[in-house]
Amino acid sequence: MEKQKFVVIGAGPVGALAALYAAGRGFDVEVYELRGDLRDPQVVPLNFTRSINLAMSERGINALKHANIPGLVDSIMTETIPMHGRMIHGVDNGSFTEESQNYDIHGRFISAVDRAGLNKRLLDELDKLPNVKMFFNYKLTGADFRAKRAWFEERSKPLTDHAQNPSEIQDAPPRATEIEVAFDFMLGCDGAHSAVRYHLMKYTRMDYTQSYIDTLWCEFHIDPTPSTAGTSEGDFKISPNHLHIWPGREFMFIAIPSSDKSFTSTLFLPAHHFAHLDANPSELVPFFNRYFPGVAGRLISESDLQKQYTENPHLPLITIKCSPHHYASSAVILGDAAHAMVPFYGQGMNAGLEDVRVLFSFLDAAAPTPEGRTSALAAYSTQRTPDASAICDLALRNYQEMRADVASPIYKFRKWVEEK
Ligand code: FAD
Repeated sequence: MEKQKFVVIGAGPVGALAALYAAGRGFDVEVYELRGDLRDPQVVPLNFTRSINLAMSERGINALKHANIPGLVDSIMTETIPMHGRMIHGVDNGSFTEESQNYDIHGRFISAVDRAGLNKRLLDELDKLPNVKMFFNYKLTGADFRAKRAWFEERSKPLTDHAQNPSEIQDAPPRATEIEVAFDFMLGCDGAHSAVRYHLMKYTRMDYTQSYIDTLWCEFHIDPTPSTAGTSEGDFKISPNHLHIWPGREFMFIAIPSSDKSFTSTLFLPAHHFAHLDANPSELVPFFNRYFPGVAGRLISESDLQKQYTENPHLPLITIKCSPHHYASSAVILGDAAHAMVPFYGQGMNAGLEDVRVLFSFLDAAAPTPEGRTSALAAYSTQRTPDASAICDLALRNYQEMRADVASPIYKFRKWVEEK
């Protein structure tokens, strides 16, 4: 087979890893990314006001290891913070309480990783490879998967603004310059509102569902303690080795540690509660005091809490399932493009990175011909679609666990029995 050109759409964590796997196998790789280069300080990560921390698990780490890049995993892991369990916050007789619940009796843990840091590290590796070309500020607008041609708008004005909703970015005003690109194989890693998936649907009988839950999320930031005389930096305000949860039964507030000793926090709340607090801003601090004791005033000043609530967007949570994930030998979708999920199981990115490992294990085992790739992609879709669907369901189920069950007497009894 002639040297094949792999085109990767989206330079998020999944697209960047997919490009590294493809380049490592000697293919010519081109990566097209709608936004600017994340390493440019002007570029704000999609969906977030700044970089946030995510929980990385064995699933994601294993996929990074299989990229076979010396030093890559070690350099990423040194920047992570181990979270050995969750810390459940409450109040008892007027005093704040903390209850540590370990994830694993053998001491295994998940790691808090800076999403942008991980993404940049993968982009740095791509920069080193002679068979990779990266195109930032290029938006996929069309694709013909039979003729293997794709069209992109080159955005002369980079998108550095913060989109309230990721789908709005797909609908940003068209640009003047359009280019046509020929390819042999397209890997669509362009997120939940994937343009690749949209075009793929015209070529294959794709079953597709998307569903929103009646919960929105808003990002908060907990600063480190102020630095004291003689020290250059402050400290973590709460334990750095836990994922912190304030369970509110129907909603919750969580915090994940960052290596700069701050925490990325998220408020998950039904839309009608957001609407009520939007209309009655003076109720925000009392609401936090009632349901998330010890946050307002202690971890985030009341004025800052109000400011962050008002300034940071209140974003939706979507589950997307589809099948198949591919078309013939010419296209596949990976990551959120194939299976966006609610974030309660901490597995969205991990599962997307795992897609890359699993996909290439099928491609590696196939004959190096278009027919071989067609069979490999069909087998990949057959295996991966039920797995993706299962993890989407587990993620939904884990919301109940995090917001309510962790604090219920039944949960505590079950844990007590398990530990006996
Ligand atoms: P994305 O990160 O969405 O990247 C897609 C890229 O494609 C973007 O850079 C975008 O600009 C680009 N793009 C889009 N359209 C086009 C186009 N037309 N042309 C060219 N480029 C395009 N996951 C975890 O594993 N652990 C966690 O703890 C966790 N916590 C989360 C918390 C929250 C609040 C949220 C919202 C998500 C969380 N996730 C977590 C999920 C995780 O963020 C996603 O699963 C992950 O970012 C998906 O990566 P991706 O590369 O598939 O897609």
